[in-house]
Amino acid sequence: MDYYDELLQRLKDIDLIGQLGSLLGWDQEVMMPPRAAALRAEHLAWVSKEGHTRKTDPRMGELLDELEGREDLDEIQMANIRLARESYDKATRLPTEFVSEMAKHNSRALISWTEARKENDFSIFRNDLAKSIEFARKKADYLGYENLRYDALLDIYESGLTVSRLDPLFEGLRDKVAPLIKSVAERGRRPNVSWVTENSWEQEGQERLSQMVSESIGFDFDAGRRDASTHPFCGGPNPDDVRWTTRYSEHDPFGSLYGSMHETGHGTYEQGRPRELDFQPAGKANGLGIHESQSRLWENQIGRSLEFCHWSLPLWKEAFPEKMQDIDAEMLWRAVNVVEPSLIRVEADEATYNIHIMIRYEIEKLLISGDLEVDELPEKWDDMYEEYLGVRPTDNSSGVLQDIHWSMGAIGYFPTYTLGNLYSAQLLSAAREDLPEHDLQISRGDFSPLLDWMRRKVHGRGSILEPAKLIEEATGEAPSPEAFVDYLRDKVKRLYSV
Ligand code: ZN
Repeated sequence: MDYYDELLQRLKDIDLIGQLGSLLGWDQEVMMPPRAAALRAEHLAWVSKEGHTRKTDPRMGELLDELEGREDLDEIQMANIRLARESYDKATRLPTEFVSEMAKHNSRALISWTEARKENDFSIFRNDLAKSIEFARKKADYLGYENLRYDALLDIYESGLTVSRLDPLFEGLRDKVAPLIKSVAERGRRPNVSWVTENSWEQEGQERLSQMVSESIGFDFDAGRRDASTHPFCGGPNPDDVRWTTRYSEHDPFGSLYGSMHETGHGTYEQGRPRELDFQPAGKANGLGIHESQSRLWENQIGRSLEFCHWSLPLWKEAFPEKMQDIDAEMLWRAVNVVEPSLIRVEADEATYNIHIMIRYEIEKLLISGDLEVDELPEKWDDMYEEYLGVRPTDNSSGVLQDIHWSMGAIGYFPTYTLGNLYSAQLLSAAREDLPEHDLQISRGDFSPLLDWMRRKVHGRGSILEPAKLIEEATGEAPSPEAFVDYLRDKVKRLYSV
C-alpha cells in the first residue's frame, strides 16, 4: 500500500474512534440514566486512550516523514499531511505521565471551582488555579512556540493563532466598541421589555418556534436532531448525524430561540462539510473561531436583524397567540437587542460580549507571563470590569469565578469566541457584495442564498486552509475587526440614536 493510502486508513480509524466518543458524549448529556455516570466515564476514558494510542503510533511519524518530502501532492493531500502532523506533534510532545497528572488535577480543580463559586470564596479555588497555570506553562513549553508561551496555548484552539495576530483585533474593539457602549449607557433610552418579563412563556410554544426557525434556515432534520440539555451544544459524529440541543426557560423565550439559532449555525456547518473528504482531517470543520462564526451569523447577524424580526413575527404569533397580540416587529427587534453593560459573560449582549472576552484575554496573557499573581487576580478582574464596562462585581461568583474554562485547564480558549463574532461580520459583509437582495431575502425568510454562499466559501472548504487563510480566501481580506465595528455602530445608532 502507498504511504498516503496507509496514512488515510490510519486517520480514518482515529476519526471513527472520535465519532464513537461523540455519540457517547451526546448520550451522556441528553439521554443517559443518572446511575450510568461512572460506567460512562469508563467508556469515554477507554475511547480516548484508544484514540491517543493510535494518534501517537510511531508508524504515523514514519509515514509523515516519508510524505512530507514529496512534491507531487495536491491541495487536499497537503492539507491532510499538515493536519496529521499537527495532531501527531501535539499528541507526542506531551509526555503520557504529564497528561495523566494534568487530567487528575483538572478533575480536582473542577470540584474546587464549583465549591468556590457556590460559596462565593475565591480562596477555595486559589491553589488549584495557581497549579493549573503552572500546568498550562509546562504544556506550552512541551508544545513549543516562537515568541510567547501564551502563543502555544492559543494554537491549541485555533491553528496558527498568536498574540501578534490577536492584539490588533482586540485593540480595534477596545478603541471603538468600548466608547460606543459607554455612550449607550449614558445617553441611550432603554426599550420597554415588560411584555417579555411580565409574561410566562410555555415550553411547547418555544419548542415549535425553535423547530420552525431551524428548519427554515436549512438544518436537515433527516440528518440531525434537536433535544434539550442543561448546557446547550452541537455534536454528533458526521454530516449524516448532527445533534444539537437547547434549553427552555418560562421567563425568557429568547434564550431558547437564539440558542437554537446558534446551534443551528454550528449544525448547518457540520452538515455542509465536503463529503468526498469524510474521515479525513481536511474534511473536518475548521478551527473553533470559524465554527463560532457560523453560529454567531445566524444567532446575531441574521437573528437579531429587523428583517428577521419581520419574517419571524407571524411564527411568534402562531406559537404564542395571546401574548404576542399587540407586539409588532419593531418591538420584537428592540427587545432582542437590549445593549446593557453587565457582569456575566454568558448573559451579555452582542455589543458588550467581546469586552468580556477582551478582559479575559488580557488577564490570561498576564497570568501566563507571570506579570500577574493569582492573589492579585480578583481585584484586577474587578478593576478591568469597572474600566471597560463601567460595572464592578460585588462578589467573586459574579466576577472572577463565573466561568468554568480555567478550572478545566482551558487557557487560550476564550479568544475564539471573539474571533467568531469578528469572522461572522466579515463573512456577512463579503456575502452581501454577492447577494444584493440579501435584506429582502431575509425579510421573506429566504435563507438559502446566504446558506449556499457559506456552503461554497466556508463549509465546503473544510480544513483545507488554515483558519486565517480561509477568511482571506472567502472575503478577500485578512481577519480584521472593521466589519464588526461598522455593523455594531450602525446598529446601535438605529436602536439608540447615539
Ligand atoms: Zn458556539
